[in-house]
Amino acid sequence: METISEPATLGAQMRVRRQRGETIGFVPTMGFLHEGHLSLMKRAREVCDHVVVSIYVNPLQFGSTEDLDHYPSDPEGDAAKCAAVGVDTLFTPLSLYDADHSTTVRVSGLTGGLCGASRPEHFDGVTTVVARLFGIVQPNVAVFGEKDYQQLAVIRRMVLDLGMGIEIIGGPLIRDHDGLALSSRNQYLDESNRRRALSLHRALNNMAQATTPSTAARLAVGRAVIEADSVDYLEIVDPDSLEPVEQIEGPVRALVAAWIGNTRLIDNIGF
Ligand code: AMP
Repeated sequence: METISEPATLGAQMRVRRQRGETIGFVPTMGFLHEGHLSLMKRAREVCDHVVVSIYVNPLQFGSTEDLDHYPSDPEGDAAKCAAVGVDTLFTPLSLYDADHSTTVRVSGLTGGLCGASRPEHFDGVTTVVARLFGIVQPNVAVFGEKDYQQLAVIRRMVLDLGMGIEIIGGPLIRDHDGLALSSRNQYLDESNRRRALSLHRALNNMAQATTPSTAARLAVGRAVIEADSVDYLEIVDPDSLEPVEQIEGPVRALVAAWIGNTRLIDNIGF
């Protein structure tokens, strides 16, 4: 595995590979890697000749009061994990934006609700960095996790709208042995907060297993078990448009974002 920090170097190497006819698979991350991230890399490994993983904690997608300054990192551990799953190139840019960077990529509609409502700048930061990374890496395929279900939908929309010609693959949400959705932020949780965090998955499971077609009744089932300090949202939406549904008549997605102590966690389930 080769590690490259300079965007121009990475871009030049990828151009050569594409000219040779190699397909490039790309997995963008913010590091502190866990099995959720690794599952996406394994998927890219299955479908592409050359696998690129980026590790970059993107300041644009953090609000001013969020955890950018103490976002966890483990560069050596991350590199070892990437090498172990067969990543070819690890891209670790120090910065992705020139001082005069002036472009924001904004997807409207899909970004209005859910995490977009509680983190107003967040998705502009995500789409701007992902567009920038796509421009550098020029992948054929990029793999994103269903853990960030809304993000996956927003990226798919961006790629379609801008004709980027990149196949977006969604990888399933990977959970810890006790059901907690794997997240780099889980390491902020002490034992009692971790126990409370498990209530998010329990709530979603109970909602999925209830039989009533009424969304209001299913949400009540979920709310009854959530042990969070506050809940940003708990919603049942159409899996494509992300618009709330009133009656469950076909496939839906239930999503939650909640604060456990100082840690904001998200989770979701399809049913
Ligand atoms: P992050 O490092 O949090 O920006 O995540 C990088 C990628 O990993 C995103 O596509 C996430 O959706 C994905 N990801 C994070 N956690 C999980 C998980 N538990 N299961 C599957 N994918 C995940």
